[in-house]
Amino acid sequence: MKYESTRGNSPAVSAAKAIKKGIAPDGGLFVPIENVTITQAELQRLTSLSYAERAVAILKLFLTDFTEKELIDCVEAAYGGDKFDAPEVVPVKSLTPDTAVLELWHGPTCAFKDMALQILPQFLVRSLVKTGETSEIVILVATSGDTGKAALDGFADVPGTSIIVFFPQEGVSEVQRLQMITQQGNNVHVLGVHGNFDDAQSGVKQVFGDKELAQALADKGYRLSSANSINWGRLVPQIIYYFSAYADLVQAGTIQFGQSINFVVPTGNFGNILAGFYAKSMGLPINRLICAANPNNVLTDFIQTGTYNRNRNFLKTLSPSMDILISSNLERLLYELTGRQAEKINGWMNELKTNGVYSVDPVTREKVSSHFWSDFADDQETLATIQKTWAQHHYLLDTHTAVAVRVLEKYRRATGDTTYSVVASTASPFKFNGSVAKALLGDEAIAGKSEFNLLSDLSAFTGWPIPKGLHDLDKRPVLHKEVTGKDKIDEAVRNILLTP
Ligand SMILES: *Cc1c(COP(=O)(O)O)cnc(C)c1O
Repeated sequence: MKYESTRGNSPAVSAAKAIKKGIAPDGGLFVPIENVTITQAELQRLTSLSYAERAVAILKLFLTDFTEKELIDCVEAAYGGDKFDAPEVVPVKSLTPDTAVLELWHGPTCAFKDMALQILPQFLVRSLVKTGETSEIVILVATSGDTGKAALDGFADVPGTSIIVFFPQEGVSEVQRLQMITQQGNNVHVLGVHGNFDDAQSGVKQVFGDKELAQALADKGYRLSSANSINWGRLVPQIIYYFSAYADLVQAGTIQFGQSINFVVPTGNFGNILAGFYAKSMGLPINRLICAANPNNVLTDFIQTGTYNRNRNFLKTLSPSMDILISSNLERLLYELTGRQAEKINGWMNELKTNGVYSVDPVTREKVSSHFWSDFADDQETLATIQKTWAQHHYLLDTHTAVAVRVLEKYRRATGDTTYSVVASTASPFKFNGSVAKALLGDEAIAGKSEFNLLSDLSAFTGWPIPKGLHDLDKRPVLHKEVTGKDKIDEAVRNILLTP
């Protein structure tokens, strides 16, 4: 399987090369040149397999330049051992008779980013060998919080790589910030940015586009790559868990084989839900993909109207990992839905860049709404949903997952659709424990307490254990203190890599 750019101006490359490069040379995103499909027999076979076996079965359809043995090794390194604190890796928990929760946060950093970022470094080291790369790969990351830590954890001390993470200094939770600035490893750099996630992401994109810098880095034996969800190597592992959730539900007798289900996905950069779209395109019986947004509801408006308009205020919400106004992966969806018309994509992306807005044609818009539905939930609804879900089901939601649960309610009310639905749960409730504790215990009980005191309060109240990755975070030494201006990201990279 080869990969081509959504902008149509780069030659098709192997999976290894697409993973190594992260972003295509013409500024587009890599996508498989052909539709990948799965047979009914193969789908049926998945039901009796372990998560690791399901992973290999899906990955080998896309990463055809990797041997099965290599894929098994990658999967074992990422999801094996005691890296995940659930034997199923991604447990499916029943919430109501027609709703389940797919827990994607049992990895080392307690958010769903681990699903991709534990395995991406494995793909990457093998891709370097396959492509005869001799340079050191420098992973540049802009993060709204969860990606940064997950990428640091995945890449720390991986030979042949180093990693530089930029996070919005005031845009992440205390737990997220501490997770990052206490990161150990000889090849890691972590910097705060005065600005929001979009500022950090724009700065990083600018570095990727800087030809002069690329040459200076090449002269010193460095080559930049990305661990953001624009990298195909991050997207492809996310396809697996849609199949796995389906297989588990069939195996448990909750649904019949062949029955269509909905997935509800708390969405930011459109990476997670796009993986669901690829799963559907491959033949997984999915009825609707429900895109749950917070008040940064640029995607909701797009799915409802066909116009993408980022000209609006950036809002800070209780679900910070979804505080995004430019959802990069939408470009891949549009490329697929237009029948791979790179010219159209170029036009829209240029409009987005210059005017901050574009409208797709009616045919594309129709296609979008045949697969997707979207609405959003605000902070108050988020807290109320956490509280209500605990009261009714004794199930603890983080703020992002709560947005999804609330949007599912709205979907059911608006459409009357009674299809069995799976909510993708993207973070451990302990990762956003300040907000979760506020929802459950009330303002008074949490007044004056640090997020760390609240971890144990929340654990005591619910009986849910504090995940290993969040223990003693406040006692670890702070190793990364630098903060940079939003226009100085390029300079910061130069300082780290080019100053002797
Ligand atoms: C990253 C993240 C999201 C958004 O996922 P996308 O793939 O960017 O749409 C949602 N919730 C949490 C907790 C996240 O970390």
